[in-house]
Amino acid sequence: MRLSRYFLPTLKETPTEAQIVSHRLMLRAGMIRQHAAGIYNWLPMGTRVLQKIEQIVREEQNAAGAQEIIMPTIQSGELWKESGRYDDYGPEMLRITDRHERDMLYGPTHEEVVTDIFRNNIKSYRDIPKNLYQIHWKFRDEIRPRFGLMRGREFLMKDAYSFDISYERSKHAYNQMFVAYLRTFARMGLRAVPMKADSGPIGGDLSHEFIVLADTGESAVFCHKELLEKPVPENVDYEADLQPIVDEWTSLYAATDDMHDAAAAEKLGGQLVSARGIEVGQTFHFGTKYSVPMKALVAGPGGEEVPVQMGSYGIGVSRCVAAIIEASHDEKGIVWPESVAPFHVGLINLKAGNAGCDEACANIYKALQAGGRDVLYDDRDERAGVKFADVELIGLPWQLVVGPKGIEKGLIELKRRDTGAREELSIEAAVAKLTAAG
Ligand code: ATP
Ligand code: MG
Repeated sequence: MRLSRYFLPTLKETPTEAQIVSHRLMLRAGMIRQHAAGIYNWLPMGTRVLQKIEQIVREEQNAAGAQEIIMPTIQSGELWKESGRYDDYGPEMLRITDRHERDMLYGPTHEEVVTDIFRNNIKSYRDIPKNLYQIHWKFRDEIRPRFGLMRGREFLMKDAYSFDISYERSKHAYNQMFVAYLRTFARMGLRAVPMKADSGPIGGDLSHEFIVLADTGESAVFCHKELLEKPVPENVDYEADLQPIVDEWTSLYAATDDMHDAAAAEKLGGQLVSARGIEVGQTFHFGTKYSVPMKALVAGPGGEEVPVQMGSYGIGVSRCVAAIIEASHDEKGIVWPESVAPFHVGLINLKAGNAGCDEACANIYKALQAGGRDVLYDDRDERAGVKFADVELIGLPWQLVVGPKGIEKGLIELKRRDTGAREELSIEAAVAKLTAAG
């Protein structure tokens, strides 16, 4: 992408409405613009990151055996009356009346809708287990939307729902999501610690919140130090018994504020970390909480009808964008982990209009793209200082700087955003280095 043609409205000044660094940087880096309180437009740069994160989530859900669907954002209130949550959910639910005076709502979550899909289409234990997920927009009329995407009113969530015949099978589905979550967040460059959690309005007997530690986190959290370094499982066979992996992660102390047991935790001494945390995902096992009132029954092996056992599993996809920035930035701007960076390389032409620089850049641009790299080519007629400030702000992992002096010697500069390490290389060597790993 040529920057001269790209829609990237960066800001030099710090927007005064933004209280936390991720919100400030997302505005400054031209990723988002507010539409109304807690409701945002995603501009091209933000959209690219959101889609990268979405794709990681999708790949890990698919690997764990979940199947992608798309449910409506606008739901019928009738289903919520069946489950009993229409009255319980409160003012966070945006209620809408259609022209026929029917009660509708903009979905804050989808347990009712997915249970309805299930009961209308699956009748026998032979047709389960199933795990259905979507990556879609939710609306919660938060009383105090703040911190940009961190606590929006409209936000992108991955929500998965599992259906099983027995508690044991259902626990396996829970464990599959638990392990998939460890991998998903690690792939985004985040360390998310699973913590025992209260299941809140979703209900149920077993729940974990996946928490990223950050000073700006909204909740107080406590965990064993080892959970911050523990390597996440690789090459997972999701059909195998995953309980040992889950046990390994949950036997170390980790709890959110409301589940915190100070006396237990005190025994950890210097091993205890108490910090602020951002909730990036949550897993719930709630058994028959919805299948009983909504009559989602399946015929068991003996022909008897039993309510299906369910769990639900959310990831705040749009919140992850903000959480990654909270975890990875410096005073100059964002420092994207490679896996979610909007572009791999920022190619900076220090003297647009100089024949040597223009030609070198055009060749590098072509070669990097041919090598499968996403390149943002700063071909603008701008001062070098402006270009450097912008590329640092938007945080691409690599910068390639092409200037008239270097080009005379056939050299360009390659710089890493995270370490700041620079080296002078020939064009060929730089291209080879950047296209080497995949
Ligand atoms: P919170 O406690 O932060 O309000 P929640 O527990 O109500 O969130 P869940 O029902 O667990 O949210 O939803 C799954 C995920 O969706 C959360 O883990 C979080 O990452 C994300 N999420 C929830 N509410 C918001 C919001 N208002 N803005 C952005 N992301 C959100
Ligand atoms: Mg939650």
